[in-house]
Amino acid sequence: MTNLLEVKNLEVSFKTFGGEVQAVRNVSFHVDKGEIVAIVGESGSGKSVTVQTIMGLIPTPPGKVKNGEILFQNKDLLKLSKREMQKIKGSKISMVFQDPMTSLNPTMRIGKQIEEGLIVHQKLSKTEARRRAVEMIRLVGIPNAEERYNQYPHEFSGGMRQRAMIAIALSCNPELLIADEPTTALDVTIQAQVLDLMKDLKEKTNTAIILITHDLGVVAETAERVIVMYAGMMVESGRVNELFENPRHPYTWGLMESIPDTNAAHKSRLVPIEGSPPDLFSPPKGCPFAPRCKYAMEICLSEMPPAFEIGEGHHSRCWLNDPRAPKVENEVAAGREKQ
Ligand code: SF4
Repeated sequence: MTNLLEVKNLEVSFKTFGGEVQAVRNVSFHVDKGEIVAIVGESGSGKSVTVQTIMGLIPTPPGKVKNGEILFQNKDLLKLSKREMQKIKGSKISMVFQDPMTSLNPTMRIGKQIEEGLIVHQKLSKTEARRRAVEMIRLVGIPNAEERYNQYPHEFSGGMRQRAMIAIALSCNPELLIADEPTTALDVTIQAQVLDLMKDLKEKTNTAIILITHDLGVVAETAERVIVMYAGMMVESGRVNELFENPRHPYTWGLMESIPDTNAAHKSRLVPIEGSPPDLFSPPKGCPFAPRCKYAMEICLSEMPPAFEIGEGHHSRCWLNDPRAPKVENEVAAGREKQ
């Protein structure tokens, strides 16, 4: 596999009246061609700021990229002019947002909205763009494509609008699709359909996808690799199978315990993660999860844990992975045994 995107040591801050918020701290990851990488974490974990920085959507000021590189096909996106970035956005990298109603133009027919990018980026004639727009409506599973082409967003259901957004995002055959909580506003059935659609499109078009979510259930269903973010940092990352089988960070354990088990014979209580994330005006010197972690040791408060390598491509920033740390039972595995 070849790296399509490589984010290296990214640091992003926002200046506010209260001081500087360190929203993304030393984040590094890559995305290969045609793979789905999920970034998961609570609100404020830095996942959306990370992808917005990739798309050049951070308002500066108050935002500022303080350090790092974002290499897309070996070009640093942070060094491109606005014009160069504009060319890449929509043609090589596209984004789907959580709420299609705020991203779709309510006064414009869906078909015309799909055509826009095709005419601007792909230089298609009006007739060709129309043919392609109808094809895209069909591709994302919207029935009666010809008829739907002429309708407005308010005539579409929530799931259909999200499909239309995906059609717009994929119309120019991007190499990378960034989907920021694309199913959060949808009910479970439609959510499953949209996720299936994304997986299917990835197979058909070989588009790589970065999927932002707060839901590990969605990750398990969709992604190949996962990055768990907390307080602006990557705390655990690895292949989905490996990380679900052998999670090695107490925060990941907490996230996994809060996934509802729809197959369980009896109703089990979901376990919330007590407490709240740290203040990112002055993040703690040590592990940012320490105030919420029942395993916190002295070293956790004074020293930032390094990224311990657990297995190939599997890393965890937790002192419990140090050979000198006391042995702690993996809570998720223990829970599975009890069932
Ligand atoms: Fe808990 Fe310490 Fe691991 Fe942080 S480094 S998650 S405080 S055990």
